[in-house]
Amino acid sequence: MSFNTLGLSAPLLKAIQEQGYTEPTPIQRQAIPVILQRKDILAGAQTGTGKTAGFTLPLLELLSRAKPEKQKSHHIRALILTPTRELAAQVGESVAVYGKHLPFKSAIIFGGVKINPQIAQFQKGVDIVIATPGRLLDLINQKVVDLSKVEFLILDEADRMLDMGFINDIKKILAILPKQRQNLLFSATYSEEIKQLSERLLNSPTLIEVARRNIASETVEQVVYQVDKERKKELLLHLIKEGNWKQILVFTRTKHGANRLSEQLEKEGISSAAIHGNKSQNARTKALADFKDGKVSVLVATDIAARGIDIDQLPHVVNFELPNVPEDYVHRIGRTGRAGYGGEAVSLVCVDELEFLQSIEKLIKKDIQKVALKAFKPDPTIKAEPINMGGNRGARNKPRGGNGGGQQVRAKHPRSSSRGRN
Ligand code: AMP
Repeated sequence: MSFNTLGLSAPLLKAIQEQGYTEPTPIQRQAIPVILQRKDILAGAQTGTGKTAGFTLPLLELLSRAKPEKQKSHHIRALILTPTRELAAQVGESVAVYGKHLPFKSAIIFGGVKINPQIAQFQKGVDIVIATPGRLLDLINQKVVDLSKVEFLILDEADRMLDMGFINDIKKILAILPKQRQNLLFSATYSEEIKQLSERLLNSPTLIEVARRNIASETVEQVVYQVDKERKKELLLHLIKEGNWKQILVFTRTKHGANRLSEQLEKEGISSAAIHGNKSQNARTKALADFKDGKVSVLVATDIAARGIDIDQLPHVVNFELPNVPEDYVHRIGRTGRAGYGGEAVSLVCVDELEFLQSIEKLIKKDIQKVALKAFKPDPTIKAEPINMGGNRGARNKPRGGNGGGQQVRAKHPRSSSRGRN
C-alpha cells in the first residue's frame, strides 16, 4: 500500500517522499482516511508507530483544503497539546517537515525557557500551535494566544498528560475552545481517566488501535542480565566495552540515579550526559544533540524526560533499573529497533526487581531471555528489599534484611505527583 491512496495532496506526498517513507505504517493507514472524513478519533498508539505523521499529515491536508482567504488569515486553526517539552519540539519539527511545501506557520510553546521569543512568534500570525498545557495557559492569560478560531484539537500522549497532573489545565483550555471542532486523542494506554476524558472530549469517535510496540517489536532483542544491585555499574561498563557499544540510552528510575550514573561513567572515561526534569531546557537540548552527533556515548534518562526522544536506529537501550510501571518498559525499548532496524534492549535486574520483571513479562506476554554472566552471578544470600523511589537517599544504605526504609513500591508509581516533575 502506498501513501498515494490515502487522500493526501501533492505537497504532502512530496514531503513524505523526501523523508524517504515508502509506505504508511498501520496507524497511518487507519487514522489518515478517518481524520480526512472529519471524524473524531481515539487512537491507542505509542511512540515509534509513526503516530505523529498519522495525525500531522491529515491535519495539514484539511488545513490546506480551506478557502484561500481563511488560509491567508493565519489565525490559530489547530492546537496540538503534548505532555513534555521534548515531545512538543519533536511534533513541531514533524509539522515543519511534512508542511514544508505548504504555507502554514506553526509555533512551539513550552515552559522552562524565556517567554518573549515565544510571544514574538505570534506577531506574524500562526496557524498551528504545538504546546505543553502550562505555558499555553500563561500565553492565553497574557492575551497573546487567541484560540477562538481553533478547528482541530489534538491531544498527544494524553495518558502521560494525565499522569503528569495536567487535567485541570486541559479542562481550562477545553473551556475556551470553540465547541465546533474536530478532536483527535492519542494515548498509549487506556485507563478510567482516559475513558472519562474521551467521553468529555470526543464526538462518536472512531477507535483505532495498532499493535502495541511490544507485539510489533520482533526487531528488538530483549535480554535480562541478573546481577546484584551493587554490581550493576560494573556490568554496564563490561557490556559497553566488550560489545564496543557506541550509542546507548540508559534508563534509571530517578533523577538522582541518572546524575549519579552519568558522573560515574564519566569517571570511567565514557562520555555521558544525564537528561531529566531538573536540568534546564538548554542543557537537555544540548545533551540530546551531543548524543545524536556521537559526542556523548551514553545518555542516561528518566522515563518522563525520555518521552518523545526520537532517534532513528538507536542500537542499544539499557534498563539500568527496571521501571515499576510495566508500560514504561515498552516505551523504553520502543526507542530501539525502529523502522525495521535491529536493536537490543538490555535490562540489568537485581533481586529487588524480580516482581517488576514479572509484571513486565505478563504485559508483553513473553518470557525475556535471562542471562547470568559467570563473573557477575548474583549472590544467592542477598534477599529482596523494597525499592526506594528516590528522595530518601539514606535509606539505600540501611542494612539488608530490614525494611529498607524507602517507599515501598509494588504495582503503581506515585505518578500523579505534581506537574512538571520532569
Ligand atoms: P512516531 O511514532 O511518530 O514517534 O514516529 C517514529 C519514527 O518513525 C519517526 O522517526 C518517523 O520519522 C518514522 N516514520 C513515521 N512514518 C514512517 C513511515 N511511513 N515509514 C518510515 N518511517 C516512518
